[in-house]
Amino acid sequence: MQNDFKPAACFTQHNSSVEVADLNKTSQIISQAQREGRKVLLETEAKAICMDYAIPVTTFKLAKNEDEAAKFAEQIGFPVVLKIVSPDIIHKSDAGGVIVNLNSAVEVRSACRKILENAKKYNSAAKIVGVLVQEMAPQSTEVIVGAIKDPQFGQTLMFGLGGIFVELLKDVTFRIAPVTREDVVEMITEVKAYPLLKGYRNTPPADLDAIIDILLNTSKLVMDYPEINELDLNPIMAYEKGAKTVDARIILE
Ligand code: ADP
Ligand code: MG
Repeated sequence: MQNDFKPAACFTQHNSSVEVADLNKTSQIISQAQREGRKVLLETEAKAICMDYAIPVTTFKLAKNEDEAAKFAEQIGFPVVLKIVSPDIIHKSDAGGVIVNLNSAVEVRSACRKILENAKKYNSAAKIVGVLVQEMAPQSTEVIVGAIKDPQFGQTLMFGLGGIFVELLKDVTFRIAPVTREDVVEMITEVKAYPLLKGYRNTPPADLDAIIDILLNTSKLVMDYPEINELDLNPIMAYEKGAKTVDARIILE
């Protein structure tokens, strides 16, 4: 079964209209999803939009079978992460659709089979677009950048630190978009967990400029595309130099 699933039309069609796609990739991706009646963009699509807005993401390639997954893993370099890509599976780990830290082609092949098997168990009717092979981002301080379209205030940005800080302590901050650099600096410094970003014990200081740029670029993205109802960059690994978005979700109106 794992050898005959088809790649989504959106990936092949991009190639047939290269000029247009290159001119405005984000518009292309959004209108393709709308035409197909999909509100939740695939991770590949959300990350392609991020790239369009200079938001750094993990390198990725969409494999349509096990052989391709192994080949792409070699090209990307080990360790890699494999993830299910399906319009019918939004929370991938809930479906057993994420396997991290794969260190060889053999491991990739067996993880690929496992992910497809898990997806089938989770939802036998799920349309499978492929398996996403991506570079494994080294562990670091995790931050979250989000956007939500508030019925009253419009596009609103969110920032917080990952894990328990958001989930348990609700240590997050909001600003109405568009935001300025000053707004963004305020957002970052006003969360209670901010001292962690400045460096604490074994944790080195995070590259604040990289986080500032992600917030500014996210603001621009949601202002350019009012049809984006929700955006979630969760988590983003914040490094001493740079940052990397590990998972991106975009939901349209
Ligand atoms: P979902 O949120 O849909 O369940 P994610 O893509 O966020 O799936 O993956 C779940 C978790 O796996 C992430 O929160 C992160 O801890 C880890 N992970 C996913 N992709 C990577 C990656 N490329 N590098 C490192 N860790 C990853
Ligand atoms: Mg996630």
